[in-house]
Amino acid sequence: MPIIKRCKKLLSTDAGAWLAAIAVGSMIFITNSWLNLDVAPTLLYITLVFISANVFSISVFLAVAFGCVAVLTASFIANGGYQDEKLIAGFIRCLIALTTITLLALRSKRASDALRRKEAFFMGAQKLSRTGSIGFIIDAPATISWSEESARIFEYPPDVTPTLALIKARTHPDDLYLVDRVIEHATQQANLIEVEHRLVMPDGRIKNVQMIANPLFRHGRRIEYVGAVMDVTLARQSEEALLASQVKLANVSRVTSMGELAASIAHEINQPLAAVITSGESCKRWINRPEPNLEEARRSLDRIIQNACRASQVITCIRALSRQSDVQRKAEVFDDIVSDSLSLMQHDTSNHQVRPHLQLGAPGACVQGDRIQLQQVIINLIINACQAMADVQDRARTLRILTSIQNNEAVLEVADSGTGIAEQVLPSLFDPFFTTKQSGLGMGLSICRSIIEFHGGRIWVSSTVGVGTRFLFAIPLTNPGHPQ
Ligand code: ADP
Repeated sequence: MPIIKRCKKLLSTDAGAWLAAIAVGSMIFITNSWLNLDVAPTLLYITLVFISANVFSISVFLAVAFGCVAVLTASFIANGGYQDEKLIAGFIRCLIALTTITLLALRSKRASDALRRKEAFFMGAQKLSRTGSIGFIIDAPATISWSEESARIFEYPPDVTPTLALIKARTHPDDLYLVDRVIEHATQQANLIEVEHRLVMPDGRIKNVQMIANPLFRHGRRIEYVGAVMDVTLARQSEEALLASQVKLANVSRVTSMGELAASIAHEINQPLAAVITSGESCKRWINRPEPNLEEARRSLDRIIQNACRASQVITCIRALSRQSDVQRKAEVFDDIVSDSLSLMQHDTSNHQVRPHLQLGAPGACVQGDRIQLQQVIINLIINACQAMADVQDRARTLRILTSIQNNEAVLEVADSGTGIAEQVLPSLFDPFFTTKQSGLGMGLSICRSIIEFHGGRIWVSSTVGVGTRFLFAIPLTNPGHPQ
């Protein structure tokens, strides 16, 4: 077996092909000379051997063929063969044989050249697209074949015979079950096998590969799957990098919103603190009376506790907003998220002389989501609405915030009476970095859309220039069937 392998390898090199052609050619020459056969066909046979070994080109072969016909004709004439009927018939037979051999050789040479060219194109395409071919029959043992590019993806030498053990040796230990699943699907003769798993290279590098295969040939009861293996490492790495930068940007935007929130937060904390001081002083007065009124003092203490709790809640909320915390999805009451967001923005709205109208029309409706992220969306929509109304002088600056339930979705509408948005701008509104503000980042709405889509929902806008804008988003309810 190793000798056959070595011979195959030798024949696939240029020097090997030359050697083989010379050896076979010499054998034909010796045999034909021994049998006293014509020189011309002998020469053509030898050329044929060289051409099939891809040593000669078509033009060399044609030159040899014409040479042979010329030699044959010249010797026919020189020997006066035209005087003998038998020799004429032999000459014609020889000519026909030479022509047939030439035509067949030309056809096969053209076909083999076209095949080699296609193979080169195919290999180039595989290399560029980092896609290899693979074929396998799941049996005991499995028979696997692959292209050079597949061997390169798995980082094995191109002439290695692929085996299941070799594939498994490169597979990430945590993904071995995926390879086993492919074997299982192939055993069950599935119509399509698709898998993506990680490879671990000997130097510890991780690669992501995707394989897709279809059953193509049937060999008795066994089925041969043929498909492609693609190295998708770069695509996965860029997806991960994109996600990481989106997370970073979301954090930048959250911190930017935090700046805007700072004023309203100061106001939110100041109010309960002032109430704590007032209630504390009145408590002191009730106790210092000649006849202390303990009942009133207790009520003052209750107010102190209530207000201190409110201040503490505001601080918890600020902490959560500023922290780059992991996404926490849980069932949340939709209306509570909306009213909490608006109360955080109270100072901001009054600063912009905006009158907010809150209409909660989804009592008890729950959504599965991250409270902080959803608050971030609502706060962003409110900030944008306030900014859009900053220049409005000829009409009331109204901000309507409505919640409702429609088609098993919780819907929020934030409508303002601001400048409105030009129709041609609407399609780019949710694009990252789209802004019409001098100090705008243009990430707010893009992040809002990512967050809403992450929650399985959608966000949209309608606007009339000079009248106002309505932003709406809808996310699925966790308690569908809720009265609408
Ligand atoms: P930024 O606020 O940093 O510009 P956004 O993504 O939040 O980024 O908003 C993008 C653009 O959308 C804004 O620059 C503004 O032109 C427009 N826009 C958003 N909300 C409104 C609104 N309520 N009224 C008018 N224009 C708006």
